[in-house]
Amino acid sequence: MTRTVYVNGEYLPETEAKVSIFDRGFLMADGVYEVTSVLDGKLIDFDGHAKRLERSLRELDMPHPDVLPDLLDVHRELVRLNGIEEGMIYLQITRGAPDDRDFVFPDPETTKPTVVLFTQNKPGLANSPAAKKGIKIISIEDQRWARRDIKTVQLLFPSMGKMMAKAAGKDDAWMVEDGAVTEGTSNNAYIIKDNTIITRHLGNEILHGITRAAVLRFAKEAQMKVEERSFTIAEAQEADEAFITSASTFVMPVVEIDDVTIGTGTPGPIAARLREIYLDESRKVAV
Ligand code: PMP
Repeated sequence: MTRTVYVNGEYLPETEAKVSIFDRGFLMADGVYEVTSVLDGKLIDFDGHAKRLERSLRELDMPHPDVLPDLLDVHRELVRLNGIEEGMIYLQITRGAPDDRDFVFPDPETTKPTVVLFTQNKPGLANSPAAKKGIKIISIEDQRWARRDIKTVQLLFPSMGKMMAKAAGKDDAWMVEDGAVTEGTSNNAYIIKDNTIITRHLGNEILHGITRAAVLRFAKEAQMKVEERSFTIAEAQEADEAFITSASTFVMPVVEIDDVTIGTGTPGPIAARLREIYLDESRKVAV
């Protein structure tokens, strides 16, 4: 089916949507993005994604596009036009397309940001079989740039990390810097030991996951103990449970790290409970 996508103010069939070859997103990965999931035809954690988007733009001195205040309407219109019940909305904003390639930022008066949104239809997203089985991961060295708190489209290393996992016959990779786990290739990383949920503290080294914020809030509301601190792969391998979070996987149990089985090798009860709470509570306030 041909999707209807959004490009700079217009809703178009995907086959007619165009962006310039001089776009700085294409030439320099000079762009930011967000992925918001859709359940029951409604947007999950929209406010969190919108706030992080504004922060990413600010951190990169990128002009705010005129459509920014209306992004919720654009998301909803794409959900409606494409009949999405479960899936994701991908949004990307770049510094736009100047007349020529240049390292210097273009004048924001003459070069307007490029705004693109499209839907990804994923029936059964919340009922993923992987969540019942858990995923297996490898660890790799974190070779990304130092501002991982900004959600840029510079995703080559995470993409290579997923390929390394695939080559090893596993599902994903956790990245390690100075001996400590930073995060997954496209998700935040957690372990559970003696009923305490442990996940790396916020900083420039990781993306401040919107799902992470919600899950930690729900965990605290449910009187679970949370520690925001670094941990090593060795500590993770000794943990009772492990899991990841992201907008598209919600809470996903991890059952193996670098060929070592975690806990019983099946999704642990706390991760399973957190997934349930996250899905239930997020659905209640979806927009
Ligand atoms: N870390 C990285 C590196 C990511 O790419 C993502 C998802 N894009 C996350 C964490 C999870 O963030 P969120 O919960 O906002 O999807």
